[in-house]
Amino acid sequence: MTKARRNLTHAFLLSRTKGCKRKLAQPPAASTRALGPRLSSIIRTVVTKTVLKTKLQLLHTERLAKLAWLVHAFSTRRGGVSRPYGGNVLNLGFTKHDSRAAVERNRALFLKKLGVVKRGKAWPLVTLRQIHSDLIHHVESLPPHPLVGDGLITNTPGLLLAIRTADCLPVILVDKKNRAVGVFHAGWRGTVKRIVEKGVGEMQRYFDTDPRNVVAAIGPGVQDCCYQVGEEVRQKFEAQFGYAAELFREVKESDPVREKYPLLFLTARAPGHSEFPVSLFLDLVEANRRQLIDAGVPAKNIEASFPCTACHTDLLFSHRTEKGVTGRLMGVVGVRPK
Ligand SMILES: [Zn+2]
Repeated sequence: MTKARRNLTHAFLLSRTKGCKRKLAQPPAASTRALGPRLSSIIRTVVTKTVLKTKLQLLHTERLAKLAWLVHAFSTRRGGVSRPYGGNVLNLGFTKHDSRAAVERNRALFLKKLGVVKRGKAWPLVTLRQIHSDLIHHVESLPPHPLVGDGLITNTPGLLLAIRTADCLPVILVDKKNRAVGVFHAGWRGTVKRIVEKGVGEMQRYFDTDPRNVVAAIGPGVQDCCYQVGEEVRQKFEAQFGYAAELFREVKESDPVREKYPLLFLTARAPGHSEFPVSLFLDLVEANRRQLIDAGVPAKNIEASFPCTACHTDLLFSHRTEKGVTGRLMGVVGVRPK
């Protein structure tokens, strides 16, 4: 590993472990347990920054980067020509604040950086009209109109499959043996609908994929430090997953006035009610990791050590933190032609 690379890995490690701006009122028991395997895989994740000239920065996993026949990346906001979201940023989605020309230019820069432009012609970029569903499409060429759904799979070389996100998780699946790939959009709705579990199933159906040969990369999205959800979300997970309780963390909301003058509030409280309201946080990364394991993907093949979008708006786009005024990241994967 070169010195520059080592420094970047180190910087990334710091940014991940320092975590979030949010102060926790109580230790996150379930999420600390979940961090164990993730922390160990941080070491294997490398932030590459090879185009210092344009400052366009992509995130890769080291394990997938080793596969010479594969192209994969998660974009960041760094580099690019879009102006509405602060500085020059790499917005890869056609958002209402940005111009079509800027997004098209950003996509061209992104494809060039990925090394999928040959003799001035880029690989076709297959995108979806994403609807938080469990619809997965098997593609063999660029569809004439964008398909509606949240998952794409292929074993056709020279096609780049893409998912756009700004807090939801982009998940890449790679069948090392049969050279097939998939990318999926997993917000809480898609996760409840088991999109990645179904993704493994669709790869089995079309490519005879053995899940034991699958390497998965759960890309940057909002993590349990920041992903506050309502009780209705917990109920939906509880209806679907036996392990749902392990995915949620409760945090008592502190109130300095109540803490200082508890007697003032004593009579107002009905017996048996909790002292303070409780906030609920969902660990979406762990939810998707569990689904992949249930689908037969070995735990050691799952990389999930990317920074939280909501904590790291210097590097990534976050719909939550930036209150909807933000760009879109892209998770992409493809098979190189021989
Ligand atoms: Zn966070």
